[in-house]
Amino acid sequence: MKKITIIGAGTMGNGIAHAFAQKQYRVTIVDITEDNLEKAISTITKNLDRMIAKEKITNDDKLQTLNNITTSTNIENGVNNSDLVVEAATENINLKLKIFKQLDELCLDHTILATNTSSISITQIAKETNRADKVIGMHFMNPVPIMKLVEVIRGKETSDDVTKKIMELSKNLGKIPVEVNDAPGFVANRILMPMINEAIFTLSENVSGVEEIDTVMILGMSHPMGPLHLADFIGLDVCLSILEVMHEGFKNNKYKPCSLLVNMVNNGNLGIKSGKGFYDYSDGPRNKKIASEFTG
Ligand code: NAD
Repeated sequence: MKKITIIGAGTMGNGIAHAFAQKQYRVTIVDITEDNLEKAISTITKNLDRMIAKEKITNDDKLQTLNNITTSTNIENGVNNSDLVVEAATENINLKLKIFKQLDELCLDHTILATNTSSISITQIAKETNRADKVIGMHFMNPVPIMKLVEVIRGKETSDDVTKKIMELSKNLGKIPVEVNDAPGFVANRILMPMINEAIFTLSENVSGVEEIDTVMILGMSHPMGPLHLADFIGLDVCLSILEVMHEGFKNNKYKPCSLLVNMVNNGNLGIKSGKGFYDYSDGPRNKKIASEFTG
């Protein structure tokens, strides 16, 4: 595989592009606006600068990585000659079904179509295409350049050959792939999201405050990050979408999103990406303070 196209330039799309480009794959990122693409390149540049400061890469590595990336707002141009497409657009089922139908029409016969979805059925997405054997879940973790895990999700018709190729490719990226079967939320979010949802219920029922809840989980369970901070980091809209897919998919109220989460998303408080969630990031993503509505 030489040329990779990433659909979506948000939190995950720019990280996935970074990871491939740093390993010398040619990458094209596609998004719906130039502004989103410019922001993605600026984020990748900042992340590479941070790696230079930590002496993990050289300035030449940075220039080469950036050189391997092109961008496009035109999906047809973006997927031209691609061996693999990794879709990392907004977590919305209808959007993903539409994108995969389009990808199937535009891509070469051998192109593998992967999705970075956190929760949506790979089998259902694959049904929109005439190549269900070449559709697979490639679920990277956030932040992609740092996190080692890739959850590789087989749909009902994903072939052994395609699964093997994606497992090997993940290893070539320096990641550790884990193969799982298709079920709402797969493994990672099936376990993580109920915990995040419960932390939000705990806050909304005034059992404790934002920082206290996070501190209990950091110090008590040795988690590197508290669940409310992690929810801000993932994006509260993404957390809500995942819980909705699991709630609908399992028809079980244990996955019903807490109304505080729903209200925060409706009010545009999406976490780090909007500048405010459970914490306030107006002084930058690394300078979190508790959001005013949760203090006192
Ligand atoms: P995001 O909101 O940061 O970015 C989504 C991007 O997709 C936006 O830039 C948007 O403009 C773009 N987009 C929307 N429609 C498009 C289209 N038709 N064509 C091209 N681009 C389009 O979201 P994100 O957090 O990067 O999530 C992307 C995917 O990755 C989702 O499926 C999500 O579930 C999954 N994921 C997210 C995380 C996380 O921590 N945020 C972790 C693992 C997986």
